[in-house]
Amino acid sequence: MPLSTGIRETRPILVPTWAGVACALAIGFATPLTADPASDGERFPAASSLGALAVAPSSVAPSAPVSPRRHVTEGVIQRGKTLSDSLRSQGVSPQVVNEIAKGLKGHFDFRHAQPGHLYHLVQDGAGELIEFRYSTSVTDGYTLVKIGDRYDVSREEAELEARATRIAGVITSTLYQSITNLGEDGQLARDFSDIFAWDIDFQRVVQPGDSYQILYERLYRDVGGRATYVRPGRILAARFQGRAGDHLALYFQPEEDRGGYYRPDGTSVEGAFLMAPMRHGRITSNYNPARRHPILKVTRPHHGIDYAASTGTPVWSIGKGVVVHRGWQGANGNLVKVKHDNGFVSSYAHLSRFSKGLSVGSRVDQKQVIGYVGQTGLATGPHVCFRVQQNGEYVDPASLRTPAGAPIPGELVPTFRAHRDQLLAELGGQRKVADRR
Ligand SMILES: [Zn+2]
Repeated sequence: MPLSTGIRETRPILVPTWAGVACALAIGFATPLTADPASDGERFPAASSLGALAVAPSSVAPSAPVSPRRHVTEGVIQRGKTLSDSLRSQGVSPQVVNEIAKGLKGHFDFRHAQPGHLYHLVQDGAGELIEFRYSTSVTDGYTLVKIGDRYDVSREEAELEARATRIAGVITSTLYQSITNLGEDGQLARDFSDIFAWDIDFQRVVQPGDSYQILYERLYRDVGGRATYVRPGRILAARFQGRAGDHLALYFQPEEDRGGYYRPDGTSVEGAFLMAPMRHGRITSNYNPARRHPILKVTRPHHGIDYAASTGTPVWSIGKGVVVHRGWQGANGNLVKVKHDNGFVSSYAHLSRFSKGLSVGSRVDQKQVIGYVGQTGLATGPHVCFRVQQNGEYVDPASLRTPAGAPIPGELVPTFRAHRDQLLAELGGQRKVADRR
């Protein structure tokens, strides 16, 4: 058995322009779909770094004369160095450094320079500043041009071209590993788990052998006439099959500016409660009404789920609500309780600290950070004890399924179905979905 299997292909897909879906999908390379799951995954070329930019210099940035009258200095901000350090180390005069800072004032603050940012400085034969380009990411940057005594600053934002692509694989350790092993950015794994965050706790249920299929956009920018991959864009369709069941989600925009993910039957994937109160917690203890307590050594029910994570990991409210407790509570240490609709109260214990400004009476949104993982109160290590009560009775948080998002409106159902069937075919399932409505 190969340790990692996966397939991917890029091909053009048609996305109808109903309801204002404006997808600039380009024609990709149609490659034959490798249906054999045992075949090795075709790897993506590595995501481009900032080095792919047209203005990108080589990493050590030698100064290269362009013409006898012009002098070009290029560089990359190194860790622990400021833009001014970097320019000065290349022999740029303090006057020119000042001029750049002055010129960019109000547009870009020198103090926000970060490792990996790139610059490209052009000076004339007398050392006068002609042009300064600063790139903060593969797609964003600033250009400063000196015209007489004036500075002209423009903000640049590269246009990205989306190409629909399919990726599929079998998980051997984690979803993140599987996707990054195929050469795609880990962001795709995070976006995928966010889509299913109301139904699947990926930390809990994902097992080796579980599989996924994702139809998504890969975003490219034009660099000197060549399309250069930047990052994954929107997921158009996603499927997860494993111990947690068979889950499918399709992107659809019922209104021009508002899109969301829907199941094949048209119901929204969004629920009133997220499955987990954080992104990367490791479950160390499940809900168990008759557990032997690890410290007290007595049989005592565990009415929550313990998520171990490093101290300081953000903890989210699993749903919209109002804070009804924020403070110390004996063995629970620093505790936050949030009251939700329909008699539900969620609580988060052993926090190292609370989020800034949070107090009793604060309104919180789903996924809003309410505090940070800690080890306060009675705890053997940094973790959050997460509990949910309904009308005063503890319930297993893993059993909560409370739909909250609106389904596809009736008049859009036929459009949705046509779109769905096309996405499903592209996703590779070719499934027939029985429509009840
Ligand atoms: Zn606990």
